[in-house]
Amino acid sequence: MRPTIEYIQTRFDEYNTRFFGGTLPPLPVKLSHAKGFLGKVTFTRRRRGLFGRYHNEDFVLRINVRIDLPETVVEDTILHEMIHYYIAVNEWHDTSTHGELFRREMARINQTGGRHITISHRLNEEEQAQAQVRKGRIVAVLHLSDGRTGIKIVPKQIRHILYWHQKATRVFGGRDGQASIEWYYTAHPFFANYPSSIAMKVYIIEKPDTIPLDDAHRLLVTDRQVRLQKNPNNSLKW
Ligand SMILES: [Zn+2]
Repeated sequence: MRPTIEYIQTRFDEYNTRFFGGTLPPLPVKLSHAKGFLGKVTFTRRRRGLFGRYHNEDFVLRINVRIDLPETVVEDTILHEMIHYYIAVNEWHDTSTHGELFRREMARINQTGGRHITISHRLNEEEQAQAQVRKGRIVAVLHLSDGRTGIKIVPKQIRHILYWHQKATRVFGGRDGQASIEWYYTAHPFFANYPSSIAMKVYIIEKPDTIPLDDAHRLLVTDRQVRLQKNPNNSLKW
C-alpha cells in the first residue's frame, strides 16, 4: 500500500493513545517520494532567547510513498518514526540515532503491541527497483547470430552509445553480419537492476518477447550519431 496523509494521521492518533499515553502533540504529516528513507521525523533545534535552553520545534513527520509496501511495514514505519518523535519531543538524549533509549522503546512496543518494528527495513528486489529514481536508461537489444537475444545497459552519454555500438558490431556481428542491435531509451523498472557500463557483457534474455519495450523510445544509432525517435505513448523526457 501507499498510505495517504489521512491514513497516517489515523494511525498516529491510535498509536499515540495506545503506546505513548496520548502525550505526543499532533504534528504535520507529509508524503515523500525520496529514495533514501521509508520515514523521517525532522525538526529544528532552536534556543529561546540569548541564554535560553535549546528546544526542538517545527516537527514534521514524513512517510515515503515511492515504494509500495505491505501495510504492516507501513504501520511499523509510522511507529518507528513515532519513537524518534517521542524522544525528540521530550528532548531526551539517546546514545546514538537508534541508541539504548530507542531500542528500549522499540522492544516495549514490539512486546506489548505484537509489532515488528526494526532499526532498518530491508527492501526486497521489487521494492528496491521502485526505490530507485525512475531515470531513463539506454538499452541495447542484441539479436545474436546464434538466435539468442541479449540486452545491455549503456551509460546515457552519446560517446558511450557510439563506442558501444561500433564495438558490439565488430564483436557480435559475426562474419556474415547476421547480428543486429536495436537501441531504446526507457524508464521501465525491468531494466533497473542491470548494471550500466561500456563493458562488452551482454545479458541473455531467455524469453525475448517478455522484454518490455512497448513504451520505450527508439534510438536510431549510426556510426556517427544518435537520434531519439519519440514514442507517443510515453512522456519521459530525454
Ligand atoms: Zn530511525
